[in-house]
Amino acid sequence: MTAYSRNKPISFDNHWMPFTANQDFAQNPRLVQSAKGMHYLTPEGEEILDMTAGLWCCNLGHGRDEIADAVHGQFKELDFAPSFNFGHPLSFELSERLAKMLPGDLNNLFFTNSGSESADTAIKIAYAYHDAKGDTGRKRIISRQRAYHGVNFCGVSLGGLTANRRAFGQWLPVDHLNSTHDLSRNSFTIGQPEYGGADMANELENLIAFHDASTIAAVIVEPIAGAGGVLLPPKGYLKRLREICDQHGILLIFDEVITGFGRTGKAFAAETFGVVPDIMTMAKGITSATVPMGAVACRDFIKEAVFSTSQGIEFFHGYTYSAHPLACAASLAALDIYDRENLWDRASGPVGDKLQEALQSLKDLPRVIDARGMAFIGAIEFEPLEGKPGAIGAALLKECWNQGIMIRGLGDAIAVSPPLIMEEAHIERFVDGFRKAVKVVLD
Ligand code: PMP
Repeated sequence: MTAYSRNKPISFDNHWMPFTANQDFAQNPRLVQSAKGMHYLTPEGEEILDMTAGLWCCNLGHGRDEIADAVHGQFKELDFAPSFNFGHPLSFELSERLAKMLPGDLNNLFFTNSGSESADTAIKIAYAYHDAKGDTGRKRIISRQRAYHGVNFCGVSLGGLTANRRAFGQWLPVDHLNSTHDLSRNSFTIGQPEYGGADMANELENLIAFHDASTIAAVIVEPIAGAGGVLLPPKGYLKRLREICDQHGILLIFDEVITGFGRTGKAFAAETFGVVPDIMTMAKGITSATVPMGAVACRDFIKEAVFSTSQGIEFFHGYTYSAHPLACAASLAALDIYDRENLWDRASGPVGDKLQEALQSLKDLPRVIDARGMAFIGAIEFEPLEGKPGAIGAALLKECWNQGIMIRGLGDAIAVSPPLIMEEAHIERFVDGFRKAVKVVLD
C-alpha cells in the first residue's frame, strides 16, 4: 500500500519509530491523519475510536479549539523564554494553579518535558533533599517489578519490565519489590482488590532490613501500574507503604504520569487512594498531550531543606524547554476545560462504571483470565498461547485497528484508557469491535 504525506508518497526508510516493529509497520502502516473528539481519522478517511487517549494522555479528547487558540496566542506573544536565569509569567501562574489542585503540601513545581524526564528529576530531588540533610549515604531507590518510569537511564533502572531491563540494564542502585498482582485471589475485580495489600507492602520492610534504611533515598510506585498491565493497588497497600517510609525517613514518590489528570476519577490518584506522597511526577494529561510537558511536585519540607543549604543555584538541574511558554499556555487552557466540564467527576460517575461493567462482560471470551480497572482505565488479560508468551496483546492491537478501534497491547493483556469525554455509545462500539477482533485472533 502506498501512503502519502501532503500528496507525496511516504518513504519508510528514514523515521526510526519508537517502541515499534519498524519493518513490520512499513509493510502494514497504521497512520492517523487527523483527530476530533473521540476519533482519529486515517488518511483513507476511516474512523478509529480512540480507546487509549492516544498513549494514556489525550484526556480531553482531540482537537480542542480552546487549547489551539491559547497556544497560537502564546506563540504570537512569546514563542520561547530561556528556562533559567530568566522567567516568564505563565510558568508561575501554572505552578500556583497546580499547587492548589495537588493534595497536601505538594506546593512546589519543577517542569520537564516528559514522564521520563520527570522520573530523573524526582530522583535528583530526592538525592538533593537527603544531601541537604547531611544524609549523603541515601542513594538506593526501591521500585517495583512490572513498574514503568520511562526510558532514560534512570527510568530504565527504576523500571521493572523485563524487556527494558534485558536491553539496557541497571545504572542506579535500585532494588525491586516483587509482588504485583495476585490473580489467584484478586481476579475480576472492579476497583481496588480486596486481598493482600498490607502483606505486599510489608515486603518493603524486608528490603529495608536487607539494605539498611540509611542507604535508601526513596520508594517510587505508580499508584496504578500502567504499562506493566494496569495493576491496581490492593486495599491498604499504598497506606502501608506510606507508614513504612515515614518510620524510616524514606521519601515516597508517586509516578502519576498516567494516573494524573482524572484517569482514576479524581485529579490525582493520591486523592483517590487517600495517600499523599512526598514527591509526585506527572506529564501526559497536564496539557492533554497537545504540547509536550511534564512536571514534578514536591512537599514543602523538601524544598525548604534543599533551599536552606544554598545561597546560589539550589538545584543544579533543568532542561532548555522546562516550562516552555507554549506548554504552559496549553496546560492552563487544558486545566480550564477539565474544571469547566467537571471531567474528574465524569470519570468516577456512571460512564466509568459502564466501562468497568463492559470489561467484566468480556470474561466469556476465549482465554480471558482477568478483567480489572477503575473509572477510565482498565485491562483484560489472556492466558498466553502455547510457546508464544506475550503475543496476544500485539495481535489484538492490530486486529482492533482493522475493526476501527485503537487499544493498547501489553504482553498478553490489552489496556484501555479512553479520553474522559467518552460516552456510553463509544463503549458499546468498543465491545462490539473487540469481540470481533478476539474472534479473528483466538478462534
Ligand atoms: N511513567 C509512567 C507511569 C508512564 O506510563 C510513562 C509513559 N507511558 C512514563 C513515565 C514515561 O513518559 P514519557 O514517555 O513521556 O517519557
